[in-house]
Amino acid sequence: MTPIGTESNPLRVAIIGSGPAGFYTFSNLLKQHDLVVEVDMFDRLPSPFGLVRAGVAPDHQKYKSVTRIYDKNARLPNFRFYGLVEYGKHIRLDDLKHHYHQVVFATGAQTDRNLNIPGEELSGSHSATDFVAWYNGHPDFTDYKFDLSQEKVAVIGLGNVAIDVARLLCKTPAELASTDMADYAIEALSNSGVREIYILGRRGPAQAAFSTPEIKEMGELTDADISVSRRDMELDPLSLEQVERLRDRTTLKNLELFRSFDEWQPTAKKKSVKLRFLVSPVEILGDADGKVRAIKLVKNRPVQAEDGSIRAEATDQVETLAVGLVFRSVGYRGVPLPEIPFNEAWGAIAHDQGRILSGEKGEPLAGLYTAGWIKRGPTGVIGTNKVDAQETVACMVADLKAGQVWHPEKPGIDTAGDLIRERQPDFISYDDWSVIDAEEVARGEKVNRPRIKFTSVKEMLSLLNR
Ligand code: NAP
Repeated sequence: MTPIGTESNPLRVAIIGSGPAGFYTFSNLLKQHDLVVEVDMFDRLPSPFGLVRAGVAPDHQKYKSVTRIYDKNARLPNFRFYGLVEYGKHIRLDDLKHHYHQVVFATGAQTDRNLNIPGEELSGSHSATDFVAWYNGHPDFTDYKFDLSQEKVAVIGLGNVAIDVARLLCKTPAELASTDMADYAIEALSNSGVREIYILGRRGPAQAAFSTPEIKEMGELTDADISVSRRDMELDPLSLEQVERLRDRTTLKNLELFRSFDEWQPTAKKKSVKLRFLVSPVEILGDADGKVRAIKLVKNRPVQAEDGSIRAEATDQVETLAVGLVFRSVGYRGVPLPEIPFNEAWGAIAHDQGRILSGEKGEPLAGLYTAGWIKRGPTGVIGTNKVDAQETVACMVADLKAGQVWHPEKPGIDTAGDLIRERQPDFISYDDWSVIDAEEVARGEKVNRPRIKFTSVKEMLSLLNR
């Protein structure tokens, strides 16, 4: 029989998910010059690029330029995009086994972590990830409502999502109007009543997860000041020892930037962002109508955990902060996929270096791989997925050489295409996506914006005359 990975018997790979992890898996496969590969990439949305489109902040267009390389690769003849095709709904594991030698799950982390405190469900308490998806025009989130008439807002968490949310709440209407944010969100944020934003972290400044450029940007906002209290900036002995010992460049630079922010005092700027450290929300308080009116915080003290890390321990000091809106920004979480073993504790697929492991024995399951956030959890920046995908592809290639692959009955591009046409006649090909993309960019060009996004699947299908 002709070896797999040759002209007459290409290695057929299905990638589920078209975000950075999916595209870096494809580009790593392309680097295997001794292998002929065919890749079909599936996404439940009509548009590719995952969080680059629906997560990266709309005022950070430079981060989105990575899609130029994804786009170049997507135009290769050995690649097919099947948008609007959902794993578990339109195609199942058995279908994939009939058409591919290997499948890679790169579905990201589609939900958020909970705080597990009373009041989390009140009206006005939102997951930051929902807000991000809403302002980015993700079709599943366009109907969400956020009461931006509130003057005081709390953002919980010291990660880059928290800082994105706080920064966008501070942007001026002119700044918002130059982004590719969904039109409805530009209007809502431009007319918002938000004036005071608290970013609340459970640990201290030395443990903040922000990237340095993001903190720097907060000190350069047009119409908002950022402040941090001197008392909050005094490093506790444990943090001081850790900072001195590790001398981590990012931490040192971040601390320097925090110190450059003043204590709060009124200025001519319309909005203020107040960074608070070592406080944890213990309850979100509501009014008689079930709307957020305040957040109850406990002061923490840093303690050393057994693994040497510094964690927060609650003291008995409690305070109540009046806010009308809460964004919980404490991390994303992966969602289990049908028929794929999931590790609940990690919130990710059970795997070893990208090889999916069986639930019972933890043995690698031939043909099944994972990459990106659904593999390693929601950590790192876009580029982190390059190295991550490299590890997965190395396992795929080694297993192929060892003969540990599926043996599909119908391995051709066309037979897979026939199945998808039958299951989801409305699927979006890469050519279809290119029509949508060109229209969005053309609409944007007229008003000096990077693009004006379609925010509903119906609109996209209608552009394609469907
Ligand atoms: P993240 O970086 O993991 O930050 C989560 C924050 O939530 C941490 O400060 C964490 O504190 C805090 N937290 C977790 N559980 C908490 C609890 N129960 N109570 C209070 N605080 C809690 O997550 P993220 O901001 O969602 O970002 C996800 C990933 O995307 C990150 O790798 C991030 O760098 C990346 N990202 C990058 C950019 C960019 O490059 N511009 C933009 C957006 C996102 P502890 O540290 O104490 O756990």
